[in-house]
Amino acid sequence: MLNSIMTDISLASAASQLPASPSVQPERRLVLSASGLGKTYQMGDVTVQALLEVDLSIYGGEFIVLLGPSGSGKSTLLNILGGLDRPSHGTAHFAGHDLTSASDAELTSYRREHVGFVFQFYNLIPSLTVRENVELVTDIALHPMSAIEALELVGLAQRLDHFPSQLSGGEQQRVAIARAIVKRPDVLLCDEPTGALDYVTGKLVLEVIERINHELGTTAVVITHNAAIAGMADRVLYLGGGRIQRIVKNEHKLKPAELSW
Ligand code: ADP
Ligand code: MG
Repeated sequence: MLNSIMTDISLASAASQLPASPSVQPERRLVLSASGLGKTYQMGDVTVQALLEVDLSIYGGEFIVLLGPSGSGKSTLLNILGGLDRPSHGTAHFAGHDLTSASDAELTSYRREHVGFVFQFYNLIPSLTVRENVELVTDIALHPMSAIEALELVGLAQRLDHFPSQLSGGEQQRVAIARAIVKRPDVLLCDEPTGALDYVTGKLVLEVIERINHELGTTAVVITHNAAIAGMADRVLYLGGGRIQRIVKNEHKLKPAELSW
């Protein structure tokens, strides 16, 4: 059931992916939410409470930065919201659909149709060119843009036939972002996307994520432990002690070029 509903959502959301004018504010369409969300890992005798009680609401077109110290459960939370993992208790919803009761097949189609992931390490296939790495996704997506269009958005259209080993780390991460957004996902979930990059390159990658959020209207959630990055968010969620400790709304978002750390 989730399957067919999700297809409807992807059709309905196509309109929200038209370029947004600069004056358009994030809408109040609830995209991701969590209520009383907890996650416990049992490793032999050791019990790890990664998340205790997370409540959050993320709206269409928002740029969210999820900040917290190492081990605070940021990745666990993002993985649950992205349908890669399941909570131990509580609920998570995408556009009103319960992810916690979804079958494995439904979660697979949720990820395939609605979620783009970007991780710290780029996970490109070394034997495929830049274009082929992105086309892996266009082959299975419902309404993809072309690989070239996605690579233009990340500023790499002139590197189509290069292999990952011929690119810098920042360029490889931009290919990974093109691969994540080529399917026109509703949400772009980024786990420490600049974690392996130097200062200048990291900023370029943040600029690309900001551009996707702004031009395509894609809801973006970016995990970082770098507090300076919080300045570019619409809202900053601070995770600690297994809960959202604080939510800060930025009245004036900064451009990545204006951030410094
Ligand atoms: P963060 O991304 O904020 O650094 P994580 O979500 O990765 O935090 O981890 C939160 C806690 O859960 C940590 O104590 C971590 O060791 C533990 N944890 C995460 N994933 C697993 C797992 N698959 N098995 C056991 N413990 C895990
Ligand atoms: Mg993490």
